Amino acid sequence: MPLVAQSVSSCRETGASLENVLLVDDSLQSLLALEAILEGPDRRLIRATSGEEALKRLLEQPFAVILLDVQMTGIDGYQTAKLIREREKTREIPIIFLTGHNRDDAQIAKGYAYGAVDYILKPVVPETLRSKVAIFIELSRRRAALMQKNLELQVAENTLRERTRELGERVEDLARSNAELERFAYVASHDLREPLRMVTSYTKLLARRYKGKLDSDADEFINFAVDGAVRMEHLIEDLLLYSRVGMRDLFVKPVQCEAVLTRALDNLQRAMQESGARVTHDPLPTVKGDDTQLVQVFQNLIGNGIKFRGKMTPCVHVSAKEKTEAWVFAIQDNGIGIDSQYADRIFVIFQRLHSHEEYPGSGIGLAICKKVIENHDGRIWFESHPGKGTTFYFTIPKMDLSE
Ligand code: ADP
Repeated sequence: MPLVAQSVSSCRETGASLENVLLVDDSLQSLLALEAILEGPDRRLIRATSGEEALKRLLEQPFAVILLDVQMTGIDGYQTAKLIREREKTREIPIIFLTGHNRDDAQIAKGYAYGAVDYILKPVVPETLRSKVAIFIELSRRRAALMQKNLELQVAENTLRERTRELGERVEDLARSNAELERFAYVASHDLREPLRMVTSYTKLLARRYKGKLDSDADEFINFAVDGAVRMEHLIEDLLLYSRVGMRDLFVKPVQCEAVLTRALDNLQRAMQESGARVTHDPLPTVKGDDTQLVQVFQNLIGNGIKFRGKMTPCVHVSAKEKTEAWVFAIQDNGIGIDSQYADRIFVIFQRLHSHEEYPGSGIGLAICKKVIENHDGRIWFESHPGKGTTFYFTIPKMDLSE
């Protein structure tokens, strides 16, 4: 068919796909006339000379639109339309009826009842027919593009679902191995405590009993051993504390933060007296939380404010600001400050910025604070001016008074 061959080649040049148009008429003359009107580079015109042949063609390939003559020998246009509508595969294809006879409204209504989208009376006006068919071709192209997009979206959605599932599995694995590590840290530090206590007390005994009785080297070595054992004891205690924070369920109740602060300051008595530190505070709210764990947070942050002091007498101020969802606590000191490049590092367990000789410590305090605050659905961060001081902030969600 020269018409089809020509259409295919010109559309290939533009790279667009061809849309099929089915022309159904039992008169070859009418078909030729339609082809002459509708020929175009973006379409393939396919003929059927009867309703039966039209149904056969429809099974072979998809169509953008069907032009269907009403009066045909064999099954007529209405019957053909009915059969087309009954088939799942062809139900959605738009049908334009062409007729030269049935001009009365009842017949036209019958055409629509059989599923026509349009009804064109012969003799057709070529321009009108051309633009109607062009619209359906465009619609079909858009529908195909939409289906393609839909398909791509489905593939993307499936990939996303798969990735989310994998991620979920990894998070579970990570949580499991974290819990195992915590358990290990707990067991190890718990079991190490006893033998370590023995080492510490015997080295202390050695120091007491033999100080000045052996040579000066021996005194120095014994002191090193005592110092190491004491430090190890502190480390083990802190590690135990850290693993307990993760393993223990939160014991949540309304907690008066001023009472929490008082308990923290009681625990810090010695450090405060040694340094002459001044700790002040604004009125503090009542929050929902675990008081024991919150005491640890206040104690670690205020303790650090005192410990990491510069030349000035340490001053630490505790305050809280009410925001929409949460209380934002601030613990401000006038100490040595922290370079912002260490913003994440200092919250990681065992990470310290100073040697033990400069400032004693185990590098666990802030890791405990982070864990406690995250257990309370809050977050912790700091702002600092090196040489001038640091403010640690943490949030605790506001208490729902209706609970
Ligand atoms: P530790 O106090 O035992 O060293 P932390 O986890 O409490 O461990 O703190 C980690 C590190 O963060 C500290 O070693 C110190 O370098 C830095 N840091 C924490 N708090 C302060 C502070 N208030 N001022 C200056 N540096 C601080």
